[in-house]
Amino acid sequence: MQDTPGTVAVLATGGTIAGTAASATDNIGYSAAQLGVQALVDAVPALAGVPLVTEQVAQLDSKDMDFAVWATLAARVAHQLAQPGITGVVITHGTDTLEETAYVLQRLLAPAKPVVLAAAMRPATALLRDGPQNLLDAVTLAREPGARGVMAALAGTVHSALDVRKQHSYRVDAFGSGDAGPLARIEEGRVRRLREWPAGEPLGLDCIAKGEWPWVELVTSHAGARPDGVRALVAAGVKGLVVAGTGNGSLHHALEAALIEAQAAGVTVWRTTRCLDGPVQATPADQLPSAGTLTPVQARIELMLQLMRT
Ligand code: ASP
Repeated sequence: MQDTPGTVAVLATGGTIAGTAASATDNIGYSAAQLGVQALVDAVPALAGVPLVTEQVAQLDSKDMDFAVWATLAARVAHQLAQPGITGVVITHGTDTLEETAYVLQRLLAPAKPVVLAAAMRPATALLRDGPQNLLDAVTLAREPGARGVMAALAGTVHSALDVRKQHSYRVDAFGSGDAGPLARIEEGRVRRLREWPAGEPLGLDCIAKGEWPWVELVTSHAGARPDGVRALVAAGVKGLVVAGTGNGSLHHALEAALIEAQAAGVTVWRTTRCLDGPVQATPADQLPSAGTLTPVQARIELMLQLMRT
């Protein structure tokens, strides 16, 4: 099948899209990652005539995503993309850490073919299940001529891996792209592109070949912030800290003092914002560098990758 031009590789990892509940009206009391990849494909009659290869790469609730699954997934995506007949890859995934997997794959692979994450906010047993349409849209995007890069197709909207974020805990239309806005819409099987495909230089899989991901933690600035947590992390051997500051990355003075100490002790510290949208704009007076437009979870991944390269 890989030799048939226009073939899409569907790599399944679990999530709510593969989740089941005892009742069709239960949208929260379900178990994620129950159905296999073939069942997901079979639930979409419109995929019957589309050349697909399927692979079950993992079967987990994406809240439990880990570095070993990322490494396996990245290697399988790279393998599939290298097959001449494969036009694109679809990854079924949970929504909870979708933005993290999308970001790490884009940074490692920056693929010249489309790699599209599909997910669902409702389990496969729900009255109003969103998984089948999202999977169909993802396959449509994976076959779109000229499409490239890692993206997510959710609720009829395409988000770049560089911008996508889960913004709502329950709504079916739960994802956004922050200030950048969506990349495209998918309407009745047609892709209406709004801006450029995600691009960049791939770091390559060698970057993660050793398998040791440096310990990088996220901390948050807030009223009454204390320095003790950061000091405990430094004492325990943390290699990097990403702080989600208030507003333009501003920090409670007690937390800031501990972070400056951490930096002086050799820990890399980056500032982001806990605001849902917007960058941290650097100023000449900054003692702790800004992570620019990266969200806190993106910055954590970026810092891990940079520490692995050095
Ligand atoms: N906990 C689920 C997961 O991330 C949520 C979902 O997929 O919507 O796997």
